[in-house]
Amino acid sequence: MLPPGSTIGILGGGQLGRMTAMAAACLGYRAHIFATEHDSPAAQVSAAATVAPFGDAAAVARFAAAVDVATFEFENIPAAAVRRVAAKRPVFPRPEILETTQDRLREKNFLRDIGVATTEFREIADLDALTAAIGELGAPAVLKTVRMGYDGKGQVLVAPDSEPQEAWRRMGGSLGILEGFVDFRCEISVVLARAADGAMAVYPPVENRHVNHILDTTIAPADLPVETLSKAETIARHIAERLDLIGVLAVEMFVTKAGALLVNELAPRPHNSGHWTIDACMTSQFEQLVRAICGLPLGSTERHADAVMQNLIGRGVERWRGAVADPKAKLHLYGKSRLRPGRKMGHITRLLPRR
Ligand code: AMP
Repeated sequence: MLPPGSTIGILGGGQLGRMTAMAAACLGYRAHIFATEHDSPAAQVSAAATVAPFGDAAAVARFAAAVDVATFEFENIPAAAVRRVAAKRPVFPRPEILETTQDRLREKNFLRDIGVATTEFREIADLDALTAAIGELGAPAVLKTVRMGYDGKGQVLVAPDSEPQEAWRRMGGSLGILEGFVDFRCEISVVLARAADGAMAVYPPVENRHVNHILDTTIAPADLPVETLSKAETIARHIAERLDLIGVLAVEMFVTKAGALLVNELAPRPHNSGHWTIDACMTSQFEQLVRAICGLPLGSTERHADAVMQNLIGRGVERWRGAVADPKAKLHLYGKSRLRPGRKMGHITRLLPRR
């Protein structure tokens, strides 16, 4: 066990790092952030920060030497930097897990190998492969870059009348994956924490509504039949076990109109769809991460209330004024000074009586 007073290194300076650092502070730990920019949301609330590119091996080594354990707060951290830290200090989740989930193809192959249903997919290395795959899977379909895609970036809808050439150009990557289009009933996610001894703490599945491919609203818990909810939880547990995860994992799934569950994406870190746990649960997803990586027992996921979490995206952040005056709303702002369309600036959680 790593005792309170120890230093947790967090690779990445965004809001997930910020909220993890705040949870760490509640338990008496210090956070040290590695970020590429000064005044990052995470560094603003942490004891220390290293500001350098992830490719700066000396800075990464200094960071590793200054922390007792490390984690990461977003997927697109170069694997080499994470491995450099792992050579000196324990890193949880293990770097191999990050490498699997950084790559949509590896992720989908892993899921298929462990018997988890996903959308149908094909690897796309060139235009010929794309044309052939559209012939096999049909259109509409979704073409995604294998790496560096998030919030719908690097994603192209291939409509029945689309030119494959145009889709390939718009994707903008060198390697892609074509997925069958899922006409889903809704999207859900399961967030869980797993400790080194295999113990798990699982939050109830939540429903996620997206606008322009970016999460807009999370409804916790999802209003779905119990069998669907329990199936979703079983799938998420199975994935965490097979990853041998120590940390927090979010499993995003499509619920099809027939009630089947297809896993879309994994995130081995706290997730936007788990922000409601800060205000509605005994232990937040961020505290669970701190507990898991420091070897403390996981906390209770008991929920005091149901919740609706709404992201404040881009100019939507102006809604903070209404939220801060609303006694029913909990406002969270991330301290980002630059506003950009699509940028997550904060969120609001509203609590509701438990169903
Ligand atoms: P992703 O980056 O894979 O999480 O995708 C972002 C969003 O795009 C998802 O949350 C869905 O709303 C939508 N999407 C992604 N893949 C598919 C698919 N195969 N079929 C239908 N919608 C999709």
